[in-house]
Amino acid sequence: MAWDETLTEQEARRAREQLEQLLERQARMGTADVVTYHPPEAISQRDLFALAGTHVDGTQWTVGDCDHRFPLQSISKVFTYALALEDNGREATLSRVGVEPSGDPFNSLAFDEVNRRPHNPMVNAGALVAADIVGGADVEERVGRLLERMRLYTGNPDLEVDQELLDAQLADADRNLGISYYMRSLGMLVGEVAEILAVYLSACSVMVTTAELSVAAATLAHGGINPRTEERAMPRTYVRDVIGVMFTCGMYDAAGQWANDVGIPAKSGVSGGIMASIPNQVGLGVFSPGLDVHGNSVRGVNVCRELSDRFGLHIFADPGETQLGRLGGRVWPEPEPEPEPGALDPREEDEERAPDDDGAVPAVVDAPA
Ligand code: GLN
Repeated sequence: MAWDETLTEQEARRAREQLEQLLERQARMGTADVVTYHPPEAISQRDLFALAGTHVDGTQWTVGDCDHRFPLQSISKVFTYALALEDNGREATLSRVGVEPSGDPFNSLAFDEVNRRPHNPMVNAGALVAADIVGGADVEERVGRLLERMRLYTGNPDLEVDQELLDAQLADADRNLGISYYMRSLGMLVGEVAEILAVYLSACSVMVTTAELSVAAATLAHGGINPRTEERAMPRTYVRDVIGVMFTCGMYDAAGQWANDVGIPAKSGVSGGIMASIPNQVGLGVFSPGLDVHGNSVRGVNVCRELSDRFGLHIFADPGETQLGRLGGRVWPEPEPEPEPGALDPREEDEERAPDDDGAVPAVVDAPA
């Protein structure tokens, strides 16, 4: 159990209980928006639900089915983009794939016509370009390099591509083939379509656990160094590019809503995973296979929204709302009520905050003592 280094036993237990309650609560609700499972057979796994967090100091907590393995799918786009940047540099990469939110579904046949490049690397078209420019003599070498990097991000040296899933995705690739051939006709893709698709779909087919996903997210939050193994997974200089594009484009055509409501750089995949990185703080992994209309995990989104609200994790939240960084020695608070329309922050009216049932004074840094 994480946070033991910074929390008293009672607080650590209480923190864990709150996470378990959060997961249980979300398990009971939040399915109304589920419109699909990917693939449809994944409906048999609809009750799987996992939440993991890894702090940049390496401590980790896990709740639910954190050892269940699932494919990265679109979350792999983060690692493919990072390697494309590493191999080609910022300028050359940006000349091939932009960083503008597209507002379109992940698999849409839409491009930045003016600049003749896909909108961003977090949608399929952009990820196919990233796969095109990852270095390596052939498919095997390029996939091998991607896999090697993913092993560094997650700290699992045994991470593998699921060959059966890859074969199934290759056999059902009309949409991605269409996007690829169209892009190639416009000069946006240079390599052989079959090879690019094999690299892209191999990355999509890498199997991870939610706990590993949280470590990969923490690696990004930790400047590209895996906080548990202390190994570097990507150059520090591109961390901001990757996290930046996750923030603006990581949740497909729901990216703006996500940035507003949750406010944490994140990337989702159609297998139901979400990886979220709060720079210099924590990496989160969430998994639940039921998807909303955008292809984002319904429960995953809800868990992140509740975590963000409850613990002030929105990266633009006032520091007084942000509890996670100061979790040590403090209990986890109830979220602040929203002020009445026209009123100022309700905290300013609280002359004194009463101790809670454990005798600890809830942490509100800017409240009067
Ligand atoms: N392999 C899937 C595809 O390319 C991944 C998409 C996703 O996770 N959104 O269609």
